[in-house]
Amino acid sequence: MREIACPDFSARTTMRVGGTAIAEVILESRDDAFLLPERLRRLGGTILVLGAGSNILARDGKLPLVLVRPCLTEGPEVTAETNGKVYVRAGAGIPLSRLLRFCMAHGLSGLEGLAGIPGSVGGAVVMNAGSFGTETGEHLHSIEILTGTEIRQCQFFELALGYRSMSIPNSCEDFIVLSATFCLTKGEKRAITESIRHNFFKKKSKQPVTAWSAGCVFKNPSEAMPAGKLLDLVGFKGKSMGGMAFSTLHANFLINEGKGSATAALELMEEAKDAVHRQFGIELEPEVRIVPCLLR
Ligand SMILES: Cc1cc2nc3c(=O)[nH]c(=O)nc-3n(C[C@H](O)[C@H](O)[C@H](O)COP(=O)(O)OP(=O)(O)OC[C@H]3O[C@@H](n4cnc5c(N)ncnc54)[C@H](O)[C@@H]3O)c2cc1C
Repeated sequence: MREIACPDFSARTTMRVGGTAIAEVILESRDDAFLLPERLRRLGGTILVLGAGSNILARDGKLPLVLVRPCLTEGPEVTAETNGKVYVRAGAGIPLSRLLRFCMAHGLSGLEGLAGIPGSVGGAVVMNAGSFGTETGEHLHSIEILTGTEIRQCQFFELALGYRSMSIPNSCEDFIVLSATFCLTKGEKRAITESIRHNFFKKKSKQPVTAWSAGCVFKNPSEAMPAGKLLDLVGFKGKSMGGMAFSTLHANFLINEGKGSATAALELMEEAKDAVHRQFGIELEPEVRIVPCLLR
């Protein structure tokens, strides 16, 4: 287990804004999990589990947070095969892109729609990340979590999956995903590779995937009225303030143009929410996780 003092959010999130936390504790192996409670007690502060930081908007300034990074990178590995189903386990710290490369190489189908999502396995599980009609949760067989000092397996039926959310109703609210086992099907390598490539390039043509952002900042209120369309209709496509801007390619992507700040991002988001509410009576909800979440 490693510890870093005053970690900077702007270096740890894809939006590249935000202040500093009290400390960052890096879990390098499953055994570190048992040492974590004592370390966290000593450090104080509110715990924030951080994956690849691709869905986080951290506020500016000195934040009373302690980051826990489960950099657990065992796998991906096939753990079992039955009746055409293949079970693949991956550590929480593995990038989704690596898991997809494994699926391509081994001819495993199910996760092709997740191509181009820049998160970790742990982050994708907790966010129930999805695109192109695929959601992470629907392909889960089980997850391994740490709650307090206990490591336990949760089966698929124990998980409550929602739109960009996953919770475990009969468990404590604070848990760290250590690994996930996916239930995939055997398929043709070439078709799977083609589908992943196709989805990746489609995403790239419609979203500013290389810009500094956290993906979609607001959840889509409905399929007929996606947040990007609403933002466009109220004139926020391309609108900028303090170095942050709603993308001209996809209005629901809030981009750091280089010198943006969390304060500017939150202000722009508030303005956009007000405009959508005034014109359409729709309350936009952030998809991005704003941390700490209770200060504003
Ligand atoms: C260019 C771009 C495109 C994107 N496209 C999509 C898309 O198409 N679909 C989509 O759903 N999302 C998309 N996103 C958003 C983001 O990539 C996903 O939400 C992703 O799953 C977040 O994973 P992460 O590892 O970065 O998690 P983080 O951003 O680090 O964390 C997200 C949340 O998960 C929690 N968390 C992370 N890891 C763990 C863990 N191991 N245990 C417990 N809690 C944990 C954090 O506390 C936080 O609440 C996009 C983002 C970008 C920048």
